[in-house]
Amino acid sequence: MADEKCLFCEILKGSIPSLKVFENEGCIAVLSIKPVSKGHVIVIPKQHHSFINNLPDDISFHMLGAVKALSTILTQILLCSGINVMHNIGGIAGQKVNHLCFEIIPRYANDKIKIEMLESKTDENELYEQQKLITSAIRDSTMKLLEAIRDGKIQVSDEVKNQALKALESINKDKPVLRKENINSKVDLLKLEDELNKF
Ligand SMILES: [Zn+2]
Repeated sequence: MADEKCLFCEILKGSIPSLKVFENEGCIAVLSIKPVSKGHVIVIPKQHHSFINNLPDDISFHMLGAVKALSTILTQILLCSGINVMHNIGGIAGQKVNHLCFEIIPRYANDKIKIEMLESKTDENELYEQQKLITSAIRDSTMKLLEAIRDGKIQVSDEVKNQALKALESINKDKPVLRKENINSKVDLLKLEDELNKF
């Protein structure tokens, strides 16, 4: 799955030298060669994925584990006062390499880093509309997944299928806003969604 022209794939292959500080099953972490602060580390998945929405769950799990472990260690050894964890999706957001990453940037008192985001006043109705839009999309996507399980388009164990049917029933009954707690936690929705995307 490596991309020949990808800087991070080249680092992963060893064609471009890097200073690795951490590795687990899903990712590596290297020191940034253009650090914005002391201890600036980049966490890179071992597989080439451009965006987080396509990142397999197991790799997501390992990447968050790496971010957690490194943030803890960096705080202890560098005595930084805080950390920014940056993840840029898309060029407009500052993504420079077509291979996703998390950047761990230790912060120190009086450092020169400036992250400025101007807040604006938002109309309450507009927020309500946004909430409706997002929750409906999640609900629709979950329904599609559960219906695919019900209709046998996704093969799962009987236990998972029964849980999916129960979840489908409870979603059909009420709940204008889909909440995770309305769904039996044993149904691994994200994992199954990956399966669904294959259709
Ligand atoms: Zn790559």
